[in-house]
Amino acid sequence: MVKPMTRALAPLWLGVMALLNASLAWAEDVPAVSADPCTARMGTARTIELDVRGGAEIGTMQYTDTLDLAPGEIVFTFDDGPSPDYTLEILDTLDTHCVKAVFFLVGLYADRHPELVREIWSRGHTVANHTWSHQLLHRVGPVTGGREVERGFDAINAALLGLQTEVGEPAQSAPFFRFPGLNHTRHLRTQLAGDDIAVISCDIGTDDWRRISSDSVYQRALRNIESRGSGVVIMHDTHARTATALPRLLDTLAERGYRAVHLTASSHSSTLSHTTQITTQADTDQPHGGEE
Ligand SMILES: [Zn+2]
Repeated sequence: MVKPMTRALAPLWLGVMALLNASLAWAEDVPAVSADPCTARMGTARTIELDVRGGAEIGTMQYTDTLDLAPGEIVFTFDDGPSPDYTLEILDTLDTHCVKAVFFLVGLYADRHPELVREIWSRGHTVANHTWSHQLLHRVGPVTGGREVERGFDAINAALLGLQTEVGEPAQSAPFFRFPGLNHTRHLRTQLAGDDIAVISCDIGTDDWRRISSDSVYQRALRNIESRGSGVVIMHDTHARTATALPRLLDTLAERGYRAVHLTASSHSSTLSHTTQITTQADTDQPHGGEE
């Protein structure tokens, strides 16, 4: 309940109002300060919607094609999560810089931490598939390989169940796949293309999967980005050294005029009804391995 103003307070109140009016009048005379918190940060310059019909193979580290990026444009990708130790910290850093990234998730971990998958998606990042259990697919047969791809998509989509986009469509993994250790096979590449799934490799490494210091991750990432000038960068949200290096890396890149680009898939592709055609060829199971 608002009490009536006492006579003693009225002059003071009038004085405050006069000051407010004066400051409002002044504000009209000067350019408005941008409310965008990312003006001095890296920011996401634009979104590329990749057409995955018939497949696509992106990343000059392995393929001839990559995204059509202008100088200074970077697509950030993070592999091997979600990690209960580092993914949230990395998400917070990306939020600080208004950077939207692509997270290539391991289905097994998505199954264990569905709340993290939902958090990544809810913060506007692209979620994508990095197999079910991170087996190196050049060491397993096509049946196991196909199953790894399929179970990866299924686990991510199960974690996202119930979430919807702004236009009411079900949340889902993008039709993007990254081979563990970047070890691709001709058989699976053909199969993925037939299923309208893009293989996303990278243009720029950061060595953050190696047992190096956080400072080395920062130095190598910066050197490699500066050397190429633009491209798809590969990192991992499963290491302390990456989580520690990232704020400094984004600060420096922002100062040098780099901008992020968010990679998404064009809306006509879906992984919800994804079923990989599993061949009947003889198969061999290999133990889980691989660093990247
Ligand atoms: Zn990996």
